[in-house]
Amino acid sequence: MPAFRTLDDLGDVRGKVALVRVDLNLPMVDGRATDLTRARAVAPTILELAEAGAKVLLLAHYGRPKGERHSTLSTSYLQGAIEGVLGRKLMYISEVSGPVVEQTLAIFGPGDIGLLENTRFWPGEEANDPAFAAAIAAHGDFYVNDAFSASHRAHASTEGLAHLLPAYAGRAMEAELKALDKALGNPQAPVAAVVGGAKVSTKLAVLEHLVGKVQHLIIGGGMANTFLAARGVDVGKSLCEHELKAQVEAIMDAAEAAGCTVHLPYDVVVATEFAANPPSLRTCNVHEVEADEMILDIGPQATEALADVLKTCRTLVWNGPLGAFETPPFDAATMALAKTAAALTREGSLVSVAGGGDTVAALNHAGVADDFTYVSTAGGAFLEWMEGRELPGVAALVA
Ligand code: ADP
Ligand code: MG
Repeated sequence: MPAFRTLDDLGDVRGKVALVRVDLNLPMVDGRATDLTRARAVAPTILELAEAGAKVLLLAHYGRPKGERHSTLSTSYLQGAIEGVLGRKLMYISEVSGPVVEQTLAIFGPGDIGLLENTRFWPGEEANDPAFAAAIAAHGDFYVNDAFSASHRAHASTEGLAHLLPAYAGRAMEAELKALDKALGNPQAPVAAVVGGAKVSTKLAVLEHLVGKVQHLIIGGGMANTFLAARGVDVGKSLCEHELKAQVEAIMDAAEAAGCTVHLPYDVVVATEFAANPPSLRTCNVHEVEADEMILDIGPQATEALADVLKTCRTLVWNGPLGAFETPPFDAATMALAKTAAALTREGSLVSVAGGGDTVAALNHAGVADDFTYVSTAGGAFLEWMEGRELPGVAALVA
C-alpha cells in the first residue's frame, strides 16, 4: 500500500485550522436523517481533531445542486443530525470561503467546529477549479480527507485541496484503505471474489480486473445467467444480457490463462413469476430451466459447494447478492453464504471485505455485517476500487 499520512503524523494542532472533507450526504425524509451511518463514520476524526484543540471546518456535499445555491440542499439541514452524533454543538457557516468564513474563524476557539455550506453550490467544486480550491485553502493550516466514498471524484474538496495544504487521511479513510489493501492490494491467498447483482454490464471492468487478482471468482445473481447463457445454457425468461456473450467468453478465457477458477451455479431456484414464495417455485439443474421460468437465486447444492470453496480461502471480497434477495425465498443463497463467511471470519481463518449498496443491505438482512472484517458503504468509490482504478482523492493523499 502506498504510504499516506494519517492523523498520527500531525504535530501540535492547537489553534490551527483543519479543513476536513467528510461524507455527510445523509438520506433525509421530511427534514430528518433516516440513516446516520455516514455521520457516525466521520465522528471519530472530527472529535479527535477538536479534542486536540484544532479549529475544525467541515467540507461536505449534499445532493446534486449542480453548481448553484439550492434552498433545499443547504448543509444547514444536516446540522442537527451531526450535532446529535457528535454530542457537540456546531456552527453552520453559509459560505465555503471569503469574509464570512474569516469572521467566523476570528471568533472560534480551539476545539470549535464549523459546518461549511454545500461545496457543490459552487461550480468550481466539481470542475476542480484551482482558484476555488485556493480560496478555501486560504482559511486552513492543513487538510484531512475522511470521505473515501467521494474520493473517486477529482473535485476541489476531494482532490484539489490536497495539493494546496499538507494533506492527511482521516480515521475512516485510514480504516477503509487498510481494509481494502488486505482484501485486494496485498491479500493472503487463496483469495475468493463473489460478484453478483443484476447485470454483467455494470461490472465488466470489475470482472476483468478480478480474474488477474483472485484464485476463485464466484459468479451469482442475474449476471450468472449471462455467463450460463454464454456457455450455451438455456436460461428461459431469466434476466440475461445475451449481447455480452463475447465479453463473457473473454473474461472466462482470461481467467483460465491466469489460473482463476470461475464458479457458476449448477443448480438454481426458478419461478414463472417474480413474487414472494410463488406457487411455481422450484429448484432444478441449470440445464432443466423451462422456457417460461426465470432464475432468481442459485441453488442449495451450488451454495454448499461455494461454502466449501470459502473454507479453503484466506481472503474474500464480495460485491453483489447471489439472488433477488429482497424477495423471499430468493435470499436463501446470499444469506447462507454470508453466514458461512461470517463464521469463518469469526474463527479467524478468513479476512472478509464487502461493499455495494445492495450488498450491505443483504448482509444486514442476514445479520452478519458486524462479523465481516470490513463492510464498505462507499458505493461508486468501492466499485471503482474493485476495478483496480486509482481514486484521485486517495492518490492525492499519497503524492
Ligand atoms: P450492489 O448494489 O451491491 O453493487 P447490484 O446493484 O449490482 O448490487 O445488484 C443488486 C440487485 O441484483 C438486487 O436488486 C437483486 O434483486 C438483483 N438480482 C440478483 N440476482 C438476480 C436475479 N437472478 N434476477 C434478477 N435480479 C437479481
Ligand atoms: Mg445496487
